[in-house]
Amino acid sequence: MDWAAIFIHDTTWLFAAEISIRVVIMFSMIILFLRLTGKRGVRQLSIFELTIILSLGSIAGDPMFTEDLPLIQAVLIMAIIISLYRLTTWLMMKYQPFEDFLEGKSLYIVEDGMLVLEKIKQGKMSHDEFFAEIRQQGIEHLGQVRAGLLETDGEFSILLFKPDDIRYGLPLFPKAYHPVHQVEPEQLYACMYCGAVEKINQHNQPCTRCGCKRWAKAINAQVIR
Ligand SMILES: [Zn+2]
Repeated sequence: MDWAAIFIHDTTWLFAAEISIRVVIMFSMIILFLRLTGKRGVRQLSIFELTIILSLGSIAGDPMFTEDLPLIQAVLIMAIIISLYRLTTWLMMKYQPFEDFLEGKSLYIVEDGMLVLEKIKQGKMSHDEFFAEIRQQGIEHLGQVRAGLLETDGEFSILLFKPDDIRYGLPLFPKAYHPVHQVEPEQLYACMYCGAVEKINQHNQPCTRCGCKRWAKAINAQVIR
């Protein structure tokens, strides 16, 4: 194997110097570009914004090391994209359907302590992902949750029940979230798929709400903050 070709090929000191200049300029352009979008940060991006960032990566990255690519072309492309971005955000503010199309809508994932069936069936979010999100907010079981919304930027918004209204619900932490093999009388069980709470006679009885046959012991612990 020709290591020199892999690492160096025909790189001259002169071109190395040119790369440094190209990188400094494109790096500054990226910062300027991101400032011009008017966003404060990029912790959570909507699909639309992610598209912009991804194209930016290529537009800014290639001219950094491609010898015959003049920087003015990259600057031109960035200027066009920023104009499109501004135009699109303006259109989104004016026309709600356009915004829904580009950014998506916030979705109810939990209502009244149960998962919204059609949303989990559509695969909008996996149980694992969802449970992790909700656990991070200090929620122990679904019986504590009045409403859970999946926002367009991927964040979760959660409304809790008042302490008096907390009911039995599906436990979310791994040690409690496992199927039972024996049913105890007077114990409430939560469907592991949809979160519905029932009294059951058999450990593999189908859930009346979704038909799933796996049950975990329901709990009704208060929220501790
Ligand atoms: Zn169910």
